[in-house]
Amino acid sequence: MRKTNATERVQVVVVGAGIAGLNAARLLANKYSVKVLEARDRVGGRLQNHYFANGDSVDVGGQWVGPGQDRMYRLIETLGAKTWPLYDSGDNLLHLAGKLRRYRGTIPRINPIALADLGLAMARFETMARSLDPAAPWRHKKADKWDAVTLESWLQQNCRTQLARQLFAIGIGAVFAAEPAEISLLHALFYARSGNSLETLLAVTGGAQQDRVHGGTAGLCEAMAQQLGERVQVEAPVERVEQLPDGSLLVKHTRGAVQCERVIVAVPPNQALRIRFQPELPAWRDKLLQRMPAGSCIKCIARYDKPFWRDDRLSGQVASPAGPVRVTFDNSEQGKSSGLLMGFLEGDVARHYGSVSPAERREAVLDCFARYFGEAARNPLEYVDKDWSSEAWTRGCYAALMPPGSWTGGGQRLREANGAIHWAGTEFAVEWFGYMEGALESAERAAAEVELALQEQSGAGSPEPVDTEGKSQHV
Ligand SMILES: Cc1cc2nc3c(=O)[nH]c(=O)nc-3n(C[C@H](O)[C@H](O)[C@H](O)COP(=O)(O)OP(=O)(O)OC[C@H]3O[C@@H](n4cnc5c(N)ncnc54)[C@H](O)[C@@H]3O)c2cc1C
Repeated sequence: MRKTNATERVQVVVVGAGIAGLNAARLLANKYSVKVLEARDRVGGRLQNHYFANGDSVDVGGQWVGPGQDRMYRLIETLGAKTWPLYDSGDNLLHLAGKLRRYRGTIPRINPIALADLGLAMARFETMARSLDPAAPWRHKKADKWDAVTLESWLQQNCRTQLARQLFAIGIGAVFAAEPAEISLLHALFYARSGNSLETLLAVTGGAQQDRVHGGTAGLCEAMAQQLGERVQVEAPVERVEQLPDGSLLVKHTRGAVQCERVIVAVPPNQALRIRFQPELPAWRDKLLQRMPAGSCIKCIARYDKPFWRDDRLSGQVASPAGPVRVTFDNSEQGKSSGLLMGFLEGDVARHYGSVSPAERREAVLDCFARYFGEAARNPLEYVDKDWSSEAWTRGCYAALMPPGSWTGGGQRLREANGAIHWAGTEFAVEWFGYMEGALESAERAAAEVELALQEQSGAGSPEPVDTEGKSQHV
C-alpha cells in the first residue's frame, strides 16, 4: 500500500477501500488500470480489528456471516480464511421487569397473550416482506402507503401489547441500529426481504449471526488490498471529482490527483455528500443521499479469562427491553481461552451514550453485563467499545437508513450511474443491503457497469460480462 502519490492516469478510480471498493477493484484489476483511494490509514472501513493486550483480536465492526451470503463464503474461501460458528448453546436470557428468564431460540417465553401478539405481528410483517421485489420495492402496489409511515406507526397498530412492541423493537434495534420511528415501513420490509426474512436477520444458527471469520473480517480486506498492492493508496481522502473538457475525470485527494475514465464511489451515502462534484451531481442524487442517514451503534466488548457464563449453561445471548445494552452475544473466538461478551448500544441509547464520558459508558455497559451474568462480569480483564457515529469517514452504522419517502421519492434511481460516476457500497445492494454480502454484490454490479462502459468506449464490440462469481477475473 502506498502512502505518497504522484499524479497518475488510470482507467478506473475507486473511492473507498471498504469491502465494496476493494471487491470492485479486484474484479476490474486484471483488465483495467485501477486506483483505490482510501481516506483512512487502513483499509476495511466498517470492518476493523481491535487487538487486546494478550494479542487476541476482535471485530469492532461487522463480524457475522450466515447462510445465503454466498459471495462472502466464496470470498472467505478464495482468500484462504476460515469461519467458525458463534457459540449458540445453552439458554438465552430475557431480562424483564428486573427479572431474568431463560429461553431457547429467537422468541422468548413471555405471557401467552404477548407471545401470540408478537407471533402474529411477526407473521404479518414476514408476509408483507415476502410480497416485495428487493430489486424494486417501490413497485409494490402498496409501496406509497408503506413508505408514508414509519415502522413505529405500524407497530403501534399491529402489536396490541406493550411487551410485544418492546420485543419487536429490540429485534429492530439489533438489525438496524435504529429506533422503529427512524425508518419507513417499506424500508423495514425491503431490508428483511433483501436478507431473506426478518427471522433470518434475527437468528444465530441458520441466520445472519451464524459464523465468524478467524482473524476478523478486516483480514479479508487486508488480504484483498495486499493482492491489489500499489493500486491501493491509503491516507488519501477524496475531496473533489471534476469532469475535464475531454470527458475524463480528475479525482482530487489530499495528496494529489488521479485522472481516469470512470469512478466508482464506494463510500457510505453520508460521506459521498462530503465530496464535491464538478459539475454538481443531479439534484435528485443529492437529495437522495441526504435522505439516507446512518444508523447509530456502539459495539461494546469485555474480555474475561474464560467464558464463565457457559458453566451456568448460558449462551451469552440476552434480550432486555430496559437495557441500556439490549442485546448481547458470546463473542469468544473458537480456539482461544478468553471469554468475550459483546453488547450493542443502539438507536437513541447509542446517541445518549455517545455523548457521555468513556468511563460512564463503560460503567453502564458492565453494569448490564453484571445484571445479566453475575458480578463476575463487572470486572473484565479488558474492555473496548467503538462508537461508529463518532468515526470520521463513517459517521454511523451498520448502514444508512431509509426514512419515510426515501424509496418512493428518489430511491427508484439509487443504483443508477451518474454519467461516468458509478455507485457501490452496501447501501446500493439489492441483496443483503446493510451487510458485507450486500457490499460485495453492489461492487459486482458497479464493476460490470464500468466494464461495459469501457468496452463500449474502446469500441471493443460486445462486452464480456464481469465474472460476478469472483472466480476468474480477480487479481
Ligand atoms: C458495529 C457494526 C456491526 C456490523 N455487523 C455486521 C455483521 O455482523 N455482518 C455484516 O454482514 N455486516 C455488518 N455490519 C455492516 C458491514 O460492516 C457493512 O455493510 C460493510 O462493511 C460496508 O462496506 P462498504 O465497503 O460498503 O462501506 P465501508 O466499510 O464504510 O467502506 C467505505 C470506505 O470509504 C472510505 N471513505 C469514506 N469517505 C472517503 C473519501 N472521501 N475518500 C476516500 N475514502 C473514503 C472509508 O474510510 C471506508 O474505508 C456491521 C457494521 C458495524 C459498524
